[in-house]
Amino acid sequence: MNKDPYCRQMLINGKWIDSGDVGSFEVQNPATEEVIASLFRATADDVNNAVKSAEQAFKVWSKYSPSDRGRILRKASQIVEERKEQIALILTEEQGKPVKEAIGEVQKGADILRYYAEEGERVYGRIIANSDRAIDSHVIYHPVGPCAAISPWNYPVELVAWKIGGALAAGCTLVVKPPSLTPLSPILFIECLVDAGLPAGVINVCPGSGSDVGKILVESPGIKKVAFTGSTEVGKKLVQMCASAFKKVSVELGGQCPLIVCCDSDFEAAVAGAVRRSFRNMGQICIAINRIYVQRNIYERFIESMAARAKTLVIGNGLIDNSCDLGPMASEDGVCKSEQHIRDALGKGARLVIGGKRPENFSKGFFFEPTILADADHSMLVMQEETFGPVVGIMAYDTLDEAIALANDVSFGLACYAYTNSLIKADTLARNLISGNVAINNVDAGTINAPYGGWKDSGNGYEHGPEGLFEYLKAKHIRIKYQNRELRK
Ligand code: NAP
Repeated sequence: MNKDPYCRQMLINGKWIDSGDVGSFEVQNPATEEVIASLFRATADDVNNAVKSAEQAFKVWSKYSPSDRGRILRKASQIVEERKEQIALILTEEQGKPVKEAIGEVQKGADILRYYAEEGERVYGRIIANSDRAIDSHVIYHPVGPCAAISPWNYPVELVAWKIGGALAAGCTLVVKPPSLTPLSPILFIECLVDAGLPAGVINVCPGSGSDVGKILVESPGIKKVAFTGSTEVGKKLVQMCASAFKKVSVELGGQCPLIVCCDSDFEAAVAGAVRRSFRNMGQICIAINRIYVQRNIYERFIESMAARAKTLVIGNGLIDNSCDLGPMASEDGVCKSEQHIRDALGKGARLVIGGKRPENFSKGFFFEPTILADADHSMLVMQEETFGPVVGIMAYDTLDEAIALANDVSFGLACYAYTNSLIKADTLARNLISGNVAINNVDAGTINAPYGGWKDSGNGYEHGPEGLFEYLKAKHIRIKYQNRELRK
């Protein structure tokens, strides 16, 4: 990795170039509020050139065999691992999460490239017997074409890696619009693919704001599929934009994820899971636990234990403090939204157990204390909307049916969590929670080789697993009549 890590360029047709137009946009360190880089913003011409280069490259890349594509993806995965620490430092500097968490994220980026290098070789067609014995139906899969990848700032490397892995393994080419708050680490990740020998134009990068660069990209006729992760509000707009051109689109959107804790559960495991999934990455995770329903006979004990455990979390500048569990939030906006949800809940009768404010020991940075609100109810924003901050509401329940009804009583359906040692309750929960992902007795709702997607307002389509690859493929039915087959042996 020879280039300035704060690279200020965009990638078009295999070349790192400066934009011919407009000013730069700045990237800030959320722990210090210092500006750490300025990047060129792609112009409409840059986006059009990037799409053209993806169209040209598609003619070549789609003809590569899956194993040849896999070889380059595996090489890229290896380069990412070699540069893991360097990429992670920049990721921490622009996003805020502690370096150990950032290293884990970059490693996941490497893992997904390797996974899809293998999975790309397992795209099998089908031969289907017809009622007429002379005729066979063959089903084969084609890559959909040049794709747009648009992702958010909370996991800037991992979320773009999911799209890159699936798209490239399928034989598609890409134009990536990285998130404006955190464009540096995804660009460094993409540089690993270029350095692994990816042909020019297979991946292109156009930094800039979603409302201009992102919009131009999505509307470009050369783009045949849009892979989006972000807010429900923007996701709905993009689906509408794609509809008129019958453009394929997958949207991974916001969550409002419940945890149900039954009185027969492993209590300490449930408390540990609740703390980890409510506050990790300062709650800026689509599958963060936003609301917890605890069976009434263990309600007060659970709140006390969760608060005690949450108080042990160390908040710090993840770049210089190795011991910290949590960094700052990524922006001032996130802090303001957390404060708004807390004010709303307290105004409606919630009880503040811990947190609720910015910590006093930081004069700069977007730090916020992990916050637990007890005695919450569904009139409160914290129980209905996505806070995307370190804030969780807790409520007591009496029966499992009531808990399931409460868990389902939101417009989102991304992930649900539950702790119980009863097989019957686990089965009832898994089957009745209306959500794309259900995790029982653990709080890791996704894994690389199983489909990950949201239901309801949490999205449409999948990432991870074979399903994540098939999002970039379209089926072709070929019906062949073999002359005189019935007469031949
Ligand atoms: P966002 O505002 O929707 O932005 C996501 C991406 O879309 C960014 O790159 C953004 O660019 C771009 N964008 C914004 N408006 C656009 C437009 N009109 N056309 C094209 N692109 C546009 O979301 P965010 O605040 O960055 O991320 C937080 C949200 O992502 C949360 O709701 C979270 O739950 C969700 N999320 C979901 C998953 C999942 O897997 N389901 C995973 C992670 C996060 P700019 O950066 O320039 O604004």
